[in-house]
Amino acid sequence: MHSPRFRVAICGGGVGGLTFAVALSQYPDIIIDVYEAAQSFHEIGAGVGMFTRAFKVLRKLGADVEQHLLQHSSSGWTEEFVPIIKSRKSDQPVGTELFELRSKGHLMRFHRAHFHSVLLSHLPSTCTTHNAKRLKSYTQPTDCSRNSPITLTFTDGSTAMCDILIGADGIKSAVRSCMLRELAESVEPGEKEFVLSCIKPVWSGVTAYRTLVSAEKLRARYPDHRILREHTQYMGKDAYFLAYPIALGKYINFAGFTLQRDLVETVYEADGGTSRPSFKGKANNGWVSELTAEQFVEPFKDLEEDAQCILECVERGTLWAVHTVKTLPSTNFGRVALLGDAAHAMMPFQGSGAGQSIEDAYLLATVLGHKATTLETVPRALAIYDKLRRPFSSDVALRSRLTGQQCTFQVDVPLHELGDAMAKNWEWAWLTELDDALEEAVKLVEDGSSVII
Ligand SMILES: Cc1cc2nc3c(=O)[nH]c(=O)nc-3n(C[C@H](O)[C@H](O)[C@H](O)COP(=O)(O)OP(=O)(O)OC[C@H]3O[C@@H](n4cnc5c(N)ncnc54)[C@H](O)[C@@H]3O)c2cc1C
Repeated sequence: MHSPRFRVAICGGGVGGLTFAVALSQYPDIIIDVYEAAQSFHEIGAGVGMFTRAFKVLRKLGADVEQHLLQHSSSGWTEEFVPIIKSRKSDQPVGTELFELRSKGHLMRFHRAHFHSVLLSHLPSTCTTHNAKRLKSYTQPTDCSRNSPITLTFTDGSTAMCDILIGADGIKSAVRSCMLRELAESVEPGEKEFVLSCIKPVWSGVTAYRTLVSAEKLRARYPDHRILREHTQYMGKDAYFLAYPIALGKYINFAGFTLQRDLVETVYEADGGTSRPSFKGKANNGWVSELTAEQFVEPFKDLEEDAQCILECVERGTLWAVHTVKTLPSTNFGRVALLGDAAHAMMPFQGSGAGQSIEDAYLLATVLGHKATTLETVPRALAIYDKLRRPFSSDVALRSRLTGQQCTFQVDVPLHELGDAMAKNWEWAWLTELDDALEEAVKLVEDGSSVII
């Protein structure tokens, strides 16, 4: 056993936090604690898709992790160009196929619970997990070059210590809130207000409808329905949905969306307010409501017949008010950094939010794990992470928003050119790799000079 180089606390055990913990397992001299607010580690009953760029990062976690993940995906690994999503013009009684998106490599699709359980089962022995630990706040020494620890305070009144704190605590991140308050104290007075304005997430004007449909039920009614075989987007003005088989064909993952451009960055009102249809679902919290089948299918009732066959099989579902995080002025301060949705929660239209948290996690583990990084140089390592990841994830967020507009015909592009426009905006997810950023990160860590910008 090596003597520990430093103790990393990860706040949040979602996709990003657990990927980071597994990625850090390559460095046995780093002690890891994962603090998760929930009583147990779990994921919602929905699907998650990974494009080639994100899945290539997961492959770097080791052959065991890759094999284990592949056992839960209906698609094998390939780097050939393959059809991934059929897109239909569905805002008419009989829809028409508009185009088929092709990507280099499959869109790897998983049940979230399976994906999460694979990461959990590969946590390193250097990692201790703590459930029912909701972080309230932290304090770090004002002079980070001094080696005194960061103190974490949880809502149950308990405390813990660490050398480095990583906020992987999702869109409502407590770490982001504390970190931006610290940052606000260090910037010019004129910038303070902007920094503080980034703490709270904003509503994107998007509501997401999520459920799993029983493939058996659909097959019994419509044995040849396309959705049993292929990922399809049923596109319509203002409302559309996409669906695809997951869990080796047992379920159809359904993700539907309504977009109201005029309500972007407004405050979401759970009772519907006056400016949009009211959802009478049972609210779990301000942003998520349980819906009956009738409530769930309502926004999609004008879509084509083929879509109605799927909607007929819906039994219940949840409605999510999709919030986003503004592009932050920084994702690090001192020995604290943010990753995943805590740093850049984005609109879900490119199916890439989890992929971006995986990329964050791997690059962050690379800079922290590098043997040149010591407790004294951690702030610099985190600044390198910020420099290489923040612009990229911000760009993905913009691209994702554009995809949503394309899928609801809110763009000024002729229908026959929409497929090419969509592919061009999305191909970063299968034509590019994280490797260049990883190489650059290692170069900057090894260079050791104080200048990184
Ligand atoms: C409809 C929809 C479909 C999507 N589909 C896809 C897709 O196909 N592909 C894709 O890549 N992405 C997709 N996304 C985005 C993806 O779900 C998120 O980007 C991803 O889950 C973010 O992971 P995370 O680990 O950063 O945060 P989270 O998954 O939110 O995890 C945060 C964790 O932190 C814990 N936590 C919160 N607060 C605290 C606290 N104070 N203390 C301790 N723990 C705390 C939470 O309990 C949770 O376990 C979709 C999103 C939506 C809304």
